[in-house]
Amino acid sequence: SKTQVGFIGLGNMGNPMAKNLMKSGYPVIATDVFPESCKEIQELGAQIVDNPAEVADKADRIITMLPSSPNVIDVYTGPNGILKKVKKGSLLIDSSTIDPSVSKDMAAAAEKMGAVFMDAPVSGGVGAASSGKLTFMVGGAEEEFTAAKELLSCMGANVVFCGQVGTGQAAKICNNMLLAIGMIGTSETMNLGIRLGLEPQLLAKILNMSSGRCWSSDTYNPVPGVMEGVPSGNNYQGGFGTQLMAKDLGLAQNTATSTRTSVPLGSLAHQIYRMMCARGYASKDFSSVFQFLREEDPQ
Ligand code: NAD
Repeated sequence: SKTQVGFIGLGNMGNPMAKNLMKSGYPVIATDVFPESCKEIQELGAQIVDNPAEVADKADRIITMLPSSPNVIDVYTGPNGILKKVKKGSLLIDSSTIDPSVSKDMAAAAEKMGAVFMDAPVSGGVGAASSGKLTFMVGGAEEEFTAAKELLSCMGANVVFCGQVGTGQAAKICNNMLLAIGMIGTSETMNLGIRLGLEPQLLAKILNMSSGRCWSSDTYNPVPGVMEGVPSGNNYQGGFGTQLMAKDLGLAQNTATSTRTSVPLGSLAHQIYRMMCARGYASKDFSSVFQFLREEDPQ
């Protein structure tokens, strides 16, 4: 039978991901700073322990799914962190979206303890996490990829090797920068068209058969009423939070600064998503930029 797999961070994404691991027959040992988060998987038979060190004491394969860089640093290198108790030869996979330089630091710290760290951030939201259809972008030692893929393929439809540690994060950050730019562009375009007298559903249909088509226009349209089953149809609840998008755009800016790369639209997107956070949009889906822009218009 399969040996226990550790899972740390049972939030919006981690919870359904851990469930899919269990469905594939892996016994799970888990922890979260917020004990309520562990309830569902505990009822499904997962073992819950007090902290990451205890997870590392029992399991030699661990997945972490945490909000941002400081949480990852704490969970790996903190006083009750994984590296306090990690077994030699353990495989540590971080699926959080964080700064690639932090992934490199964690890999170096893990190596000192004889363990292997890989970054494996995901694309696809809570829906893809629930249906096991995530895309994983994996960075690390290529000889460890097969072992990582065995676990990640229980939770995802695509598991892509990107290169050395940190390159998974690089791919994820680039994708989300383009996603933000595309969502803002779609939102301001739809708003202009509507103000010019076009019916929103018709405008979306025309864009989607023309060269302006993109994921934000054809599968996640930000205008309420254009599509069903997306956050714009549900008062921008659920989905991918504006605050998380602002975080990812900040990560893109940091990497652009350190590599002296010009990303003018990425910078502007970062500012727009930060402004939204300050104006009460932090926990709404990131497609609410459409509503935010409309508030700027004279009525
Ligand atoms: P979340 O805030 O819902 O969940 C994070 C969990 O980590 C929470 O349960 C929290 O209590 C726990 N946690 C925080 N610090 C901890 C610590 N020190 N020890 C143990 N547990 C701790 O976030 P989420 O939506 O699940 O996202 C997780 C990551 O995945 C983020 O980096 C996010 O950017 C990325 N992501 C999210 C989505 C999405 O649609 N939500 C999509 C792709 C990627």
